[in-house]
Amino acid sequence: GRMVVGSILTSAALNFRDREAFLCAGTGRRVTFRQANERCNRLANGLTDAGLRKADVVAFLCNNRSELPEIYFALAKLGLVGIPLNYRLAPAEIIALVTEMDAKALIFATRFLWAAQQVKETVPNIAHLVAIGDDAPPWAQPYEQLLSSASADEPQVDVEEADPFYFNLTSGTTGLPKSYTLTHYNNATIGPMFASYDATSRDTFLTIFPAFGRVGYAWIAAGLMFGARNILMDFDAGEALRIIDTERVTLFNAVPTMGAMLLAEPSRPSRDLSSLRGIVFAGSTFPTQLRERIARELCPHIYEYYGMQESGALTVSTPAHRELHPSSVGVPIPFAELRIERSDGSLAAPDEPGEIVGRSPASVTQYFRNPEKSAETFRDGWVHTGDIGSMTEDGFLYVRGRLKDMIITGGQNVHAAEVEDAILSMEDVADCAVFALPDEFWGERVSAVIVRTSPSGATPSAEDVEQFCRQKLAGFKIPRVIYFDEGPLPRTPTGKVQKFLLVERFRTSR
Ligand code: ATP
Ligand code: MG
Repeated sequence: GRMVVGSILTSAALNFRDREAFLCAGTGRRVTFRQANERCNRLANGLTDAGLRKADVVAFLCNNRSELPEIYFALAKLGLVGIPLNYRLAPAEIIALVTEMDAKALIFATRFLWAAQQVKETVPNIAHLVAIGDDAPPWAQPYEQLLSSASADEPQVDVEEADPFYFNLTSGTTGLPKSYTLTHYNNATIGPMFASYDATSRDTFLTIFPAFGRVGYAWIAAGLMFGARNILMDFDAGEALRIIDTERVTLFNAVPTMGAMLLAEPSRPSRDLSSLRGIVFAGSTFPTQLRERIARELCPHIYEYYGMQESGALTVSTPAHRELHPSSVGVPIPFAELRIERSDGSLAAPDEPGEIVGRSPASVTQYFRNPEKSAETFRDGWVHTGDIGSMTEDGFLYVRGRLKDMIITGGQNVHAAEVEDAILSMEDVADCAVFALPDEFWGERVSAVIVRTSPSGATPSAEDVEQFCRQKLAGFKIPRVIYFDEGPLPRTPTGKVQKFLLVERFRTSR
């Protein structure tokens, strides 16, 4: 049949039937595969009863709980277009988004009541409001009531592979987030792409990655395809470790920052983590030392994916890969293609750095209403990642940093990531970011902001940092200016430092 998202859940219900599909850590609700599909169908039919039709836009504001997959797949079965809202956005940002996309309905968890209420008051086209939770306000329909009054039959809507499924935003690391629409095809093809971590129906997944984005959705869909049990929770390091222990979690998905928080959690030594057989990391640079500590202290089997929102995952590095190429991000996943381009567009030789260019069935081909940025990133069906990397003769990809993160000082190229790695390996350094500030003489000046482990302490000093860097790095790579900050540094929800904000701040602070 067609590669459409709705059939992932329909088929999981037939395949895995009365086994547990979801456990909601917050509410304790347990749902089997058949129940999940039935509840999804009820939601879909309830939305149809409310007048929503294919291609209508539905926004949702929902944390990691068992209703979230029901929403994704109900929209998918009807061909509705979702806007999974990042609940960290300010109400004004949410309002701007749902207004621009002309959303007709909003489904929200009542913990986000304040934002939902403002949407209701400001966006007249939102005719339907559905509230998840016991404390639904009078102006919204309770989610459970909507489900119980609707039929559980499979909805019969013709959905095509190229139909839009949901609307998504990039992380906003390098500037304002860019938005784009993902199709059913983009999202139905993810199963085989995640074959590398050998998941089966005997696995228990833990979802701690906020599932309003691509990575979270993909993790939920992959669990359904494999027939794994999936525990949904909002990230909290202590709670996550407790659940890994008591529910015998085998696989979870995280960003490196979450890994660092799990390591630092005081209750960790008292938890039994022996059920873990893999941790899947995605989304940002993995400092080598952190990865090695996680492998030693949490779980030795680390899978690291490389990719971007626009392209989907492109490569994976498994423990076996790391024996050959320890700090590579691995090899292309099934159906992904990669090449390294010189700035004139020609192909780079093995080991020669250039821009990483890739494509896969999960890649999109344009940004939403942004022809300028689209032309920059998408050329001939290939996604230009804006990352610098190189490929070995035997097909392993090394990521060196972002083009925008490359500092050109006196004509020499400095990769911020390399300098950060050096500074982060110093004692008493909790966090660090290296970025470029304009310099009249050098063009750009290597600048660093450092968060010390103990905020009151004065070590390391700027001089200490300089001396330490001198042993590890060439002279031109050593930060010319070092700022100290109490932290936390401005980060995206996936843990990446938003350097454009640092540049804004420190450009004027001198
Ligand atoms: P924006 O595009 O809005 O500035 P962003 O690029 O951070 O934000 P994402 O698409 O979430 O948004 O992140 C993709 C980027 O993250 C990649 O381009 C790359 O720079 C980085 N990245 C992802 N995975 C890895 C990895 N395994 N190793 C190194 N870098 C990675
Ligand atoms: Mg990007």
